Parts: sequence; structure tokens; C-alpha cells
Amino acid sequence: MASQDPVGRVSVFSTGSVAVRPEHVGPTRKHPYLWLFTSRRWTAPRPVNVFVVEHREGLVLFDTGQDRAATVDPTYFPAGPMGLVFTRVAKGRMGAGETVPARLAALGLRAEDVAKAVVSHLHYDHVGGLRDLPRAEVLVSRAELDSLTSPFPVARGLLPGRLHDGARWRPVDFEPLGDAGLAPFTAGFDLFGDGALVMLPTPGHTPGSMSMLVRRKGGAPLLMVGDLTYDAELLAAGALPGLGDRRRMARAAAEVNELRRRLPGLAVLAAHDPNAAALLERASEG
Ligand SMILES: [Zn+2]
Repeated sequence: MASQDPVGRVSVFSTGSVAVRPEHVGPTRKHPYLWLFTSRRWTAPRPVNVFVVEHREGLVLFDTGQDRAATVDPTYFPAGPMGLVFTRVAKGRMGAGETVPARLAALGLRAEDVAKAVVSHLHYDHVGGLRDLPRAEVLVSRAELDSLTSPFPVARGLLPGRLHDGARWRPVDFEPLGDAGLAPFTAGFDLFGDGALVMLPTPGHTPGSMSMLVRRKGGAPLLMVGDLTYDAELLAAGALPGLGDRRRMARAAAEVNELRRRLPGLAVLAAHDPNAAALLERASEG
């Protein structure tokens, strides 16, 4: 019965928009350095999605969007060649009314009430809202957190200096859950111990990228995948984005596609998929 469902409303909003290179969305056979420095085209603006799950145990966000400073402060990205890479990769836009607190308020929710912020990975356009979530515990995979301290973080798209100093990090360790409903995944992390919100390892875009499965009685299951894909249809077709570890992305994509075969109606929701909001709406109808 819906009244016993620990998962209530699930919503999505975008913190501004981002344009990327078409090769980034993929698929492409070109080497990333080639297209990064030669591409002259941008995609149409795409969302920078934040997913909101109203769970009985508290308000949960999956990803927190971009920091407005990244779109208006010319010193946000490092100077020199590395900074150039950031500006070649993506072009963000964000208005003052598109912050996480403003978007939550439009849903009748308060940023102070966010109990958990689950981040798919540590790229700036997924952790930008953390400083606006004063009470949130921030869940990130241990592999992703460890990648911050391995050499040359900026070359891997990380901006450690821009991370919110006061964030309460909680590293996620995946463990065998003995839950046949997660197959082909054999390990995960069950956020509240009720099976409703389960983190799954989907590395490839970054070493520690993870997804969140939402299982609820009031709608189809959902899988929030961060940047594993930029388009759920491309993922379904086995087409990979142009950036990331191809072997690991291919494996994660195959596992997600297998999960979808086993969970009819599973909606795959990506951070920058223009169709994600419509997919969520369809998955939540009746
Ligand atoms: Zn992203």
C-alpha cells in the first residue's frame, strides 16, 4: 500500500544548464584530446539535474548541481592549460533563482531539511550545491573520495579547492547485500536499510562514480546514474560517452542494461539528459 511506502514524492530540478561538445555525449571514435581541442560545436543547453527523494527517514538529494560561481566567476577554474580544458569541455549557465535552495523552495522544501546528499561523483557540476545544505551528510563512494588525493586531481576534472570545506563526508563502501533484486549487481549500499534507496557502483566516468536505485510502491523503479550516460536511449543502445574509462563504462552500462531487463519499467535518469524530467514523470504516473 502506498501509505506504507517509505518513498514519497520524487522530483527533479535543474541548476541552470550546460552545453557540452557533441563528441562528449558520444558515441565517438575520436580520442578525447582530439575532439576536446578541435571541436567547434556545442550541444543545445542540457540540464544539470538534482533529484529529490522524500523518504520517511529524511530528505535525500542525488547530486547537488553546479555552483553558480562556476558560471559567473572567471577565476573559478584554474588558470593556464588546465583551466582551458575546463572551458573547452563545458559551458555552464545559471541564474540567481536556480540555486538548490531556490529550487527546493519551489517544491515546498527547505535546504536546511536535506538529511543526505548522495553525490554520483566529485565533478564540480555535481557537488556545487553542497555549501547550501548545512545539515546534510554527504555520501560519496570511497574510491571517488580517495581519487581526490591521488596525483593531478585537476587533470581528472576535480577541483579540490572548490569543494565545500564544511561538508560532512561519509565514504560509501559497497558490500554484498544478498538481494537478488539487484542482479547483476552483487554489491551495493542500502542507505536506510529498507531496500528503498540503494547505491550501486557504476565506475567509468570517474573511478568512483555511483548510481542510486529507488524502489517504491508508488511508481516504477528509478536508477539515477549521474554521468554514466548523457542520454538514456544511447545507454540502452550500448553507446558510450566520449570521456571516461571506456572498459569500465562499458561494463557499468551493460550491468545497468541487464538490471533494466530484470526490473520492468526501470527509468534510467542521467544528470544531463534532456529527457530525464519526462522519464521521471512517466515513471511516476499511476
Ligand atoms: Zn556532470
